[in-house]
Amino acid sequence: MNKEESKNELANNKKSLDKSFEKSIDVIIIGGGFAGMNTARLLAQRGISSVIYDAGYGASNLWLGTVDVLNYPGDNLLLELAKFQVSIPAHPYAHLSMDNLQASLDEFYEKFSSFASFASFNNNSNEICNGHVLTSLGNTKLTTGVWNTIFREFNSLNDQSLCVLVEFIEFSHSPMHLVAKGLEEKFPGTFLVLSISLQKLFKQMNADIPVNTDSGTLSAKTIASFFDSKAIHMSPLASLIKSTFTSKYPEFSWKNISLFLFPPILGIENSPTIFTHLSSHLGVECYEMVSLSPSIMAERFIRQFHRKLQVFSVPINKPFTLVDFIRDGTDWICSFQDNKGNIEKMKATYIVIAVGSLFTQGIFTEPYELGNKFHQLGLDFPDSINSNYEIASTEKESNIFVVGAANYIFSTDLSEEDEVRDGTGLGVAIATSYKVAEIIHSRYSKKSKNYGN
Ligand SMILES: Cc1cc2nc3c(=O)[nH]c(=O)nc-3n(C[C@H](O)[C@H](O)[C@H](O)COP(=O)(O)OP(=O)(O)OC[C@H]3O[C@@H](n4cnc5c(N)ncnc54)[C@H](O)[C@@H]3O)c2cc1C
Repeated sequence: MNKEESKNELANNKKSLDKSFEKSIDVIIIGGGFAGMNTARLLAQRGISSVIYDAGYGASNLWLGTVDVLNYPGDNLLLELAKFQVSIPAHPYAHLSMDNLQASLDEFYEKFSSFASFASFNNNSNEICNGHVLTSLGNTKLTTGVWNTIFREFNSLNDQSLCVLVEFIEFSHSPMHLVAKGLEEKFPGTFLVLSISLQKLFKQMNADIPVNTDSGTLSAKTIASFFDSKAIHMSPLASLIKSTFTSKYPEFSWKNISLFLFPPILGIENSPTIFTHLSSHLGVECYEMVSLSPSIMAERFIRQFHRKLQVFSVPINKPFTLVDFIRDGTDWICSFQDNKGNIEKMKATYIVIAVGSLFTQGIFTEPYELGNKFHQLGLDFPDSINSNYEIASTEKESNIFVVGAANYIFSTDLSEEDEVRDGTGLGVAIATSYKVAEIIHSRYSKKSKNYGN
């Protein structure tokens, strides 16, 4: 065997060794934020198997609790979206019909029943629209929907309203005086702040929760987990609120209280149960506010997604970073690296890139290197996403799609700042994943039919 032949044999051996490590699936999803997870959920509903590989952390981990579509204060959000599409043709919304956008949000709100959509109580047509929610800075924010435990009933406030804003002494991030001031400036009614000692509550409930000895504080997660474990035992908290209110505000009558507002830390898993029980024990409606710090809200939503994906047996491999990918006939082979440097390979016909725009890792970190890699594989970069959110390629169809905020890293005309300015947040993740899941489903069904024939 000459030198060239032995080199070839070595390469072939290596190739077959590599292949023996490959596993295959219908769709590989790179990135496990809301866009990646929503794509996996929608594919699973259509009977298509997928696997998620996630580097570990993204914008979804910082999410504050609302479903933002477009930062627009008027009545006709759909009309405004249509105008927005025309004015920013590079934006991911530009590739959607209004029906598609509406359908993606309808499906989302139907499947995530702990969210309340403004469409369901602001108009009769169920047409997507914006409404105001209260943030923990005391201002309001426009969004199409929120956790149904978040306060949004501003119309119910009048001169007779008496609202009590509960703050926990050991939780230093709840500026309730700021919230009260913000509400006073904009709405009729009286807004009182009531400070409650969690240490006192823990003592009464025989709970042994150690407070940080230096600062005297408790983290949001510790407080949320405590309430999760006591979700149906809200009577001690209600009694403490009643007794503290009576001694602090003797001039006000309990029966005149119209509303209680809490910082957004009551539970991760069981917040709806906590609010139902608390409202019932206090005899008054209880709500929370949109969080403005990282974020129990995100944790709640991520857990809901994980549970849904568990039902469909969609694996989430984490932390795994895409470091390379190659063509294999009409399929793709992706190489993922874990924290210890181990490489795992996976083969699929379809790839969905859901790596976001803020916390990209591996091959998505440097646009120049990403461009080189894409060009080697006959993939266009940048400005190469077509109306199917598919990367244009020398082949007829690349079968590589981009969903969520990752769309911003593939366009030279868009930046992360645009996302914040336009307030398109989760709307982009929901709408793009919906359309991509439909396109993959249609190609997948066509392919299966051809094999059947
Ligand atoms: C502070 C903050 C608060 C926000 N609050 C709201 C809100 O209240 N309402 C709203 O509508 N929107 C909000 N947004 C926007 C919204 O959270 C994002 O638009 C959305 O979460 C983006 O989801 P995504 O899945 O596209 O990206 P991401 O959530 O960023 O997910 C991308 C994932 O891909 C992974 N990844 C990156 N590179 C690789 C790789 N090479 N291999 C494998 N995995 C990789 C990352 O680790 C990450 O987990 C907020 C954003 C921020 C920053």
